[in-house]
Amino acid sequence: MLNGEGYRASLDDGRSVYIRGERIENMARYAPVAATIDRIARTYDRGYDPAPGATNPLLAAPRSAEEFRERLAQLHGEDLMLHVTYQSLMALLTAAGRIEQDFPEGAARVRAYVEDCRRRDVRMVQCITDSKGDRSRSAGAQTDPDQYLHVVERRDDGVVIRGAKLHISGAAIAHELMVMPTKRMKPGEEEYAVACGVAVNTPGVKIVSTMPDQPGDADPREFPLSWDRVLPEALIVFDDVFVPNERIFLDGHVASSAAFAHSLGLWERLSATGGQVRRAEQAVGLAQLIAEANGTERIPHIRDKVNDLVLHATLLRATFDAALVKSREDSDGILIPDELNTNAAKVLAGEGWAAVVARLVDIAGGSTMTAPSPLDFDHPDVAEHLDKYMSGVDGISGIYRARLFHLIKNMTADGFGGWLNVTTIHAGGGLYAQRLVMRKHFDMDSAKATALALLGGVNPVQAERAGAPAGGIAR
Ligand SMILES: Cc1cc2nc3c(=O)[nH]c(=O)nc-3n(C[C@H](O)[C@H](O)[C@H](O)COP(=O)(O)OP(=O)(O)OC[C@H]3O[C@@H](n4cnc5c(N)ncnc54)[C@H](O)[C@@H]3O)c2cc1C
Repeated sequence: MLNGEGYRASLDDGRSVYIRGERIENMARYAPVAATIDRIARTYDRGYDPAPGATNPLLAAPRSAEEFRERLAQLHGEDLMLHVTYQSLMALLTAAGRIEQDFPEGAARVRAYVEDCRRRDVRMVQCITDSKGDRSRSAGAQTDPDQYLHVVERRDDGVVIRGAKLHISGAAIAHELMVMPTKRMKPGEEEYAVACGVAVNTPGVKIVSTMPDQPGDADPREFPLSWDRVLPEALIVFDDVFVPNERIFLDGHVASSAAFAHSLGLWERLSATGGQVRRAEQAVGLAQLIAEANGTERIPHIRDKVNDLVLHATLLRATFDAALVKSREDSDGILIPDELNTNAAKVLAGEGWAAVVARLVDIAGGSTMTAPSPLDFDHPDVAEHLDKYMSGVDGISGIYRARLFHLIKNMTADGFGGWLNVTTIHAGGGLYAQRLVMRKHFDMDSAKATALALLGGVNPVQAERAGAPAGGIAR
């Protein structure tokens, strides 16, 4: 296994990372991501076991709904790279079961790769979103064939792939890229039906990263939520990258091409929603705390707005819990979260977040954006003034109230708040995709039967012919 130092050293592996027009030689020494790397290194140190063959127990598949719930809570408390790795490994194992019949050799390679990654204790990111060119055309119908990642050469010992994957969270500070088709491919699009594992430092992999707006010398008090949690995002170019056979999980099997995306979608949406449930609850707490500090918590419209937040958080928690409680074991004994509730929760979270932000900012007031920095509270010339003029009701200090505002700003209104706003909608696939999956898994036949029962068991075909319900409407 790796410890924190081992993780830092592992990032100096010749990978090609570019940020703001510069080639970054060693991400472990790149200041804007230093706090995040420290957090990841601490997670590595906590999980480190020098015994030969040891693996991190947090990366094992959960065996019960209770273990599932605890695992997600533990992962949310660690760093995002461990969490993304967990989702990736679970998605791979889920996909292995789903491609078993079509491509058993691919399923065996997936399982061997997962074991190898656990043993090497590496961090993995998810490369699914293609550049996609003209969205109204399928992969094979693009003018430029590289707009979806595809195989450009087959050799006895592997394949060569070309294309790009966009918005890849954490790639610059990970070890492995889990590459998969972004959606189902059709017959004739076999070259696009490719899934594989690629090491980040493989020749031809170019990681062009962006960082959320947070200065490298940020004070943790200014960015209480994001300080050591920002991740570099990346556009990754696969410029004719060779992938050896043992790392190829799917190659040309169009019938199974959606198995990986669907498996990842499920795990990614479940985890993302877990974070959004906590955030929705934190938003309730923040709204109540700032209302109490402002002396507005008993004003009827403020109470109503807090109640809106309570309702949203409660519905979200209930749907998320249902996704865990209704999880089922697959043929390999891995617990698979419930599709309907996972996707419904993700839609609720994604569509509801803008309203949460609006309520919270409305309740808090304009200092959300303009509260002086905690660093100003340290300056002897102004500290006393700031503590006096930023205070609220009797007994509430200026610095406490200012820190609530910094937290609200970090959650809703600065660079990280903006990242959350976009991510809540798009991560795990756009909301449209989740609505499609939700609809597919809803038991429409049962809903129709429930509705027809109101008609007293009338046969709909006869009723249509007769122009009236055959059995009459039950009263
Ligand atoms: C911060 C962040 C982190 C992310 N992390 C990752 C990651 O780690 N790995 C990864 O692979 N991806 C990641 N994503 C990508 C995310 O899954 C995509 O942004 C999302 O799937 C939307 O794709 P797109 O951005 O290409 O937008 P588009 O596909 O261009 O979608 C824009 C809109 O058009 C609609 N649309 C587009 N095409 C169609 C169509 N044919 N039919 C109907 N509607 C259509 C979409 O529903 C959406 O409403 C991340 C995104 C963000 C914002």
